[in-house]
Amino acid sequence: MKRLSIEQLLGINKFIVDEEAAHIVLNKEICAVCAGKPCTVACPAGLYTLKDGKISFDYAGCLECGTCRVICPQAGAINWQYPRGGFGINYRYG
Ligand code: SF4
Ligand code: SF4
Repeated sequence: MKRLSIEQLLGINKFIVDEEAAHIVLNKEICAVCAGKPCTVACPAGLYTLKDGKISFDYAGCLECGTCRVICPQAGAINWQYPRGGFGINYRYG
């Protein structure tokens, strides 16, 4: 059986993006004082990135794993909810 890369596995999933309501919202003022920014290495979908030293985030492609919510060291930085019904990820592997 052929082994797929992480990128290939993620590409199998289907996302229905809620353009009207982000299910994860960052308080970027709090993020600005976060020293380690662990979300940039912990998110399995790579949705947290640094641009000119500032955090950049796009909720489209979120796997809804909750990792960022758990590892974020700054209270109040992440407002995390599951997407509204009918939106979000459909896992298709297997
Ligand atoms: S870990 Fe939390 S506070 Fe730090 S940059 Fe990421 S989301 Fe912001
Ligand atoms: S819930 Fe998981 S996939 Fe979604 S942004 Fe947080 S760490 Fe990334």
